[in-house]
Amino acid sequence: MFDSLSDRLGGVFDKLRGRGALKEQDVLDAMREVRIALLEADVALPVVRRFIDQVTEKAVGQNVLRSVTPGQQVVKIVNDALIDMLGGEDVPGLDLEAVPPIVIMMVGLQGSGKTTSTAKIAKLLKEKQGKKVMMASLDVNRPAAQEQLQVLGTQVGVATLPIISGQQPTEIATRAMQAARLQAVDVLLLDTAGRLHVDQQLMDEMKAVAAISTPRETLLVVDSLTGQDAVNVAQSFAGQVDLTGVVLTRMDGDARGGAALSMRAVTGKPIKFAGTGEKMEALEVFHPSRVANRILG
Ligand code: GDP
Repeated sequence: MFDSLSDRLGGVFDKLRGRGALKEQDVLDAMREVRIALLEADVALPVVRRFIDQVTEKAVGQNVLRSVTPGQQVVKIVNDALIDMLGGEDVPGLDLEAVPPIVIMMVGLQGSGKTTSTAKIAKLLKEKQGKKVMMASLDVNRPAAQEQLQVLGTQVGVATLPIISGQQPTEIATRAMQAARLQAVDVLLLDTAGRLHVDQQLMDEMKAVAAISTPRETLLVVDSLTGQDAVNVAQSFAGQVDLTGVVLTRMDGDARGGAALSMRAVTGKPIKFAGTGEKMEALEVFHPSRVANRILG
């Protein structure tokens, strides 16, 4: 996904590294090119501005320009700023330190990859962390959404709450909590309904479900292919519910990377997972420093 950005930045840095000494103007010229590369990757404008200002301020300092390897130092400053932009060195992971059943509420627009990501996370918790997991679909809007989760549950070997047709999301959430307690489930994943647009009904429904289930994690699923829209969607959700993190799907697609690069800075929420394909194993814990490495080669 970051190929084109990576190529562009690689070209700029090769030029910088190739010089023994650097003048302030060389750094400013390089930053202009970095700015264009980030904008072409569809990174949000305010994020690009802040990034360039921070890097420039550090990079034109005398101890950098007078050092033995100024080019290397500038690249290191860009690398560090990129890691910051992606969320910093810490990988927050899921907060599962609470009395079970611990609830993870999955929210997002229809088609974002919410149901798929729910099942992927359930599989990961079961297989990597040995948790007893249950999933419940509260999506009464999209036809066959509940059945889809059931099918995925069978695929990954995780129980799903039996479907009772005609129930409302809050009723399903209440029933899921009861079942999870009775069956001594460690983690209950609630796949909430998606809609085509962010609207009040969707937000009210999420809040009602949250009031019943007091989720430890509320993960927003967004499609990285939608670029700036993904960031706008995340901003609207973040203003309404207490998001604890973001799952960026379709990172295997040919998005230019803007959503991944702007998400943290615009929403203040950490990207916790990246979806990298349709298969149930195609989920990666999001590591800002690894992603920065991938971009800077
Ligand atoms: P929902 O409406 O948000 O629940 O979306 P779904 O989970 O049903 O996903 C919609 C489509 O996107 C399905 O065909 C998924 O297989 C696909 N999908 C989900 N996540 C990814 C991903 O990370 N990469 C790719 N390539 N496809 C994905």
